[in-house]
Amino acid sequence: MAQVELLPEVQKFLEGEPKMLVDGVQTDASSGVTFDVVDPSTGRAFTAVPRGNAKDVDAAVRAARGAFEDRRWTGLRPGKRAEILFKIGELIKRRTRELAQIEALDSGKPVTLASGEMWFAGECFRYYSGWPTKIFGETNPSDDSMFVYTLREPVGVCGGIIPWNYPLLMAAWKIAPALAFGNTIVLKPAEQTPLTALLLGEICLEAGVPEGVVNIVTGFGDEAGAALSAHTDVDKIAFTGSTEVGKKILQASAGNLKRVTLELGGKSPNIVFGDANLRRASKGSMMGVFTNSGQMCTAGTRILVEKTVHDEFVSSLVEAAQTMKVGPGLAEDTGMGPVVSAEQLERVTGYIDLGRSEGAEVVCGGERVEDLGDGYFVQPTIFTGVRNSMRIAQEEIFGPVAAVIEVEDVDHAIEVANDTMYGLAAAVWTTDLSKAHRVARGIRAGTVWVNTSGLYDPGTSFGGYKQSGFGRELGVHSVEAYTQTKSVWVSLK
Ligand code: NAP
Ligand code: MG
Repeated sequence: MAQVELLPEVQKFLEGEPKMLVDGVQTDASSGVTFDVVDPSTGRAFTAVPRGNAKDVDAAVRAARGAFEDRRWTGLRPGKRAEILFKIGELIKRRTRELAQIEALDSGKPVTLASGEMWFAGECFRYYSGWPTKIFGETNPSDDSMFVYTLREPVGVCGGIIPWNYPLLMAAWKIAPALAFGNTIVLKPAEQTPLTALLLGEICLEAGVPEGVVNIVTGFGDEAGAALSAHTDVDKIAFTGSTEVGKKILQASAGNLKRVTLELGGKSPNIVFGDANLRRASKGSMMGVFTNSGQMCTAGTRILVEKTVHDEFVSSLVEAAQTMKVGPGLAEDTGMGPVVSAEQLERVTGYIDLGRSEGAEVVCGGERVEDLGDGYFVQPTIFTGVRNSMRIAQEEIFGPVAAVIEVEDVDHAIEVANDTMYGLAAAVWTTDLSKAHRVARGIRAGTVWVNTSGLYDPGTSFGGYKQSGFGRELGVHSVEAYTQTKSVWVSLK
């Protein structure tokens, strides 16, 4: 299978042992310690990055604080901030191939999928470049003796902590709004996928972001991540990751009552009714659960199928899943890459074993892919005969594993869909307009897709209900997350 040839820029970047970005300077960890970065398609380390610790986080927070207080970013003309943000978007676009290759190596995702994500990350900066010139305060009602107005101001120093499933995209979702609304930021990428965030740091500097405004500290969650979330000079944490770690972030934030937004896990229902266009529904459901090897917070892992079409739908879903070509991230014809790490491989195959022992039936896949070398490959796997109370229907597996659950009718579908601690997303497939809207209203989740799935746009807010987190990113609602208002009373007497 043809692998794309690494660009000379990529080779150079990797040979240089990428550095962190603190106060505008590319730097090693203060301890001098590094950790390996592994290619999940081969299981081999191909470079190393600094293992930042609490001391490095503190230096980065001090840099971000200094840059915030002297207003080198916040105080710029809004049009200038807009121009710089737009330029970051353009530079990402220009360097898409390079970034996509690095992302594919680092995360194992197919390079074609990565290219689309790079585009979307660039789009996120271009979207947010529209905001600095459009943030207004208000003039408040008052009597003749007073003039009262509100200022909408940045929150201050933000900390971003992100997962490994969409490394550059998640970095963009944190950095772009923080900057658009005048904040400074320290970002900690996931230990499995630190590379594209470091390149994004370089891109920010190249685009004209002043030193200290964006800082990137690579390292481990329980060291660098914990230090960032507990740091008393950080005003806000934007976290994307597991519900378990989200709870730790919330506890750590109590020290100085940081603002927190949490984008957490999911176990999203994907509901197929008997009147759906089954061909479209099976393709869409398949993509909704197996894209990115199922490592999506919004993955439609619980496929709820109306019993009248259960068997027909399952065979068409299995057929669709069998077209998914499993292969290494850098091969252009790969549809599904490996899972991200040896640990994740263990977890996913463990859940497949658990599903079998819980009494569900594997009708597709169910095994590790052995003939692709030492990479962490798992077959797209579909279980039928799943009850919603089974652990494979309740716990986030974060791998290419779908659980098909038979449902009776609309009310039953809504009931089962909501019978989970999560509430991130849902998809519904039907040709009945009223049914679609009824289900959209009945489901407790932050996003509902009708006759489609897995769509995002920087203009549309994203976030969770229940234990999928709180706060909204993207769109107009992100203004709330990254600004605060001040009321100013002026006596006119
Ligand atoms: P994770 O284990 O929760 O890690 C997320 C980030 O938190 C990583 O950077 C991690 O560092 C760091 N971290 C770990 N322990 C920490 C601690 N005690 N204090 C501070 N930071 C800590 O999640 P993951 O395995 O990387 O990603 C998968 C999860 O992310 C899934 O649950 C998925 O649903 C969720 N997710 C949610 C969304 C959304 O928008 N709702 C989007 C994507 C993914 P290390 O890398 O060193 O562990
Ligand atoms: Mg890696």
